[in-house]
Amino acid sequence: MACLARQALPLRCLVCEEPGADGRDLCLACHAALPWNDHACPLCALPLPAHEPAERCGSCLHEPPRQSAAAAVFLYAAPVDQLLIRFKFHQDLAAGRLLSQLMLQRVPTFVAGPLAPVPLHWRRLRSRGYDQALELTRPLARALRQPLWRGLQRDRLTAAQSRLDADARRDNLRDAFAVTAPPPARLTVVDDVMTTGATLDAVVHAVQRAGLPDVALWVCARVP
Ligand SMILES: [Zn+2]
Ligand SMILES: [Zn+2]
Repeated sequence: MACLARQALPLRCLVCEEPGADGRDLCLACHAALPWNDHACPLCALPLPAHEPAERCGSCLHEPPRQSAAAAVFLYAAPVDQLLIRFKFHQDLAAGRLLSQLMLQRVPTFVAGPLAPVPLHWRRLRSRGYDQALELTRPLARALRQPLWRGLQRDRLTAAQSRLDADARRDNLRDAFAVTAPPPARLTVVDDVMTTGATLDAVVHAVQRAGLPDVALWVCARVP
């Protein structure tokens, strides 16, 4: 019944409230203004200056990250930042659905195999009621006909990363993740936002310790 009711609702732009278009809750004008991150480092997804080739950035040349590839569909900028906040902190699942639809417009070539959402600690899941990375990943896996891999677990309830600096973020996340099943032969880890990359680095480290060297990252938005 709830599903039928949703289908019957007209599409409405979640940004400006004009009618939506192309099967999305987003109007054409807001779609045209999205902050796509199409020119970025293939290892850490940081945007590159337009005049530079799309090759690894200086920091990845100097010290390659653990992951074998990374792609962020958007820069963390308006209106994607507000959609992510509404999705993550204000129970706006329609915003999450829209972000998944938009991620499917930029599927990285490395996505060929299971997708794994960055897990939420059960206690935070209980207080929030839903797991935003899982809500984002499930429609991606379905649309790409790839399995969802749920072999990652968050063992420690970590302090909110947003309040910590880069070193404190890394310490905060040490051994925060565990792998509870043998990893598949290929894996793409999915998350909503990549800021310093410390959370995703901890996830990749856990998967690599479990025996899978090549792990790729696919996120909705990158904080430059
Ligand atoms: Zn709009
Ligand atoms: Zn880089």
